[in-house]
Amino acid sequence: MYDVIIIGGGPAGLSSAIYAARACMSVLLLEKQPMGGGQILNTAEVDNYLGIPGVNGFELGEKFTDHAKRLGIRSVAEEVVRIDCLGEVKKVITVKKEYEARAVVYAAGAGHRKLGIPGEEAFAGSGVSYCATCDGAFFRGRTAVVIGGGDVALEDALFLAKGCKKVYLMHRRDTFRGARSLVRRVEEETKIELVLDAVPEEIAGDGMVKELLYLDRKTKEHRKLAVDGVFIAVGMVPHTELLKGQVELDENGYIIAGEDCRTSVDGVFAAGDVRTKKVRQIVTAVSDGAVVIAEIGV
Ligand code: NAP
Repeated sequence: MYDVIIIGGGPAGLSSAIYAARACMSVLLLEKQPMGGGQILNTAEVDNYLGIPGVNGFELGEKFTDHAKRLGIRSVAEEVVRIDCLGEVKKVITVKKEYEARAVVYAAGAGHRKLGIPGEEAFAGSGVSYCATCDGAFFRGRTAVVIGGGDVALEDALFLAKGCKKVYLMHRRDTFRGARSLVRRVEEETKIELVLDAVPEEIAGDGMVKELLYLDRKTKEHRKLAVDGVFIAVGMVPHTELLKGQVELDENGYIIAGEDCRTSVDGVFAAGDVRTKKVRQIVTAVSDGAVVIAEIGV
């Protein structure tokens, strides 16, 4: 029986683990990937984490993981398939084993939202990607389109412009959700062409992506762009399926929890991107880790 089982090895999970270990709690960290770090592992550059400007995301993930290792935290690379959390003893069942704890910190993060248009699934890995930093190199000297209007889409367009011949940035509205500083950099980059008020309708090709069909909302015309790559950056969906029906979720699937990370179930806490919050950043995920362990200790 552990004092706390932490599910997820991103910034929120690793930070929780570090605080738990330092509070002398017995702690088990479950992370299905062989390497901790979560979403930041696929981030080219993190420039807003205090004290480490311009750090590569993978390197930052390694630093976080090494920190947890130095404290001797038990980390097991097993995927969790079920959680029974309504009783006093919390049971966490993985593909291999069943573990028990007095408290669970659920920090499983979020994954890429899909567009749900024809061709998206068929061309995944054949021109359709959700990660510019992972796959951008395949499109060196070629043409790509990035879909989305948030920070990630803006950053992806800037990243791809370094190697691509041309990058379209397609957004369904005419104003961006992402940071103004990024918008300015995108507007100044001559290789990037904005395609605004445009709703993607289909990805087409023959074996590999050839074109993106879209609706021009202003003219109501159906148009197409000739592209080799389609990078989809339309936000994230929380990984909360395992808690459905046990813990209260909001209409978008996020776990309803305040700044104290307490959920609707005693002994179950939500940390990082999985919980309802305004600002989903590394620094707020790390902050949740500190808060959640203080709450468990109360
Ligand atoms: P986001 O901010 O939620 O933006 C998603 C974008 O995709 C929005 O512009 C949205 O359009 C568009 N979209 C959603 N569904 C769509 C659909 N079906 N078809 C077409 N477009 C669609 O997501 P994100 O860019 O992934 O960022 C996630 C979080 O991480 C944000 O809080 C962001 O600030 C943070 N982040 C921060 C940094 C940084 O500070 N350096 C870097 C990366 C991410 P609408 O605008 O019309 O809704």
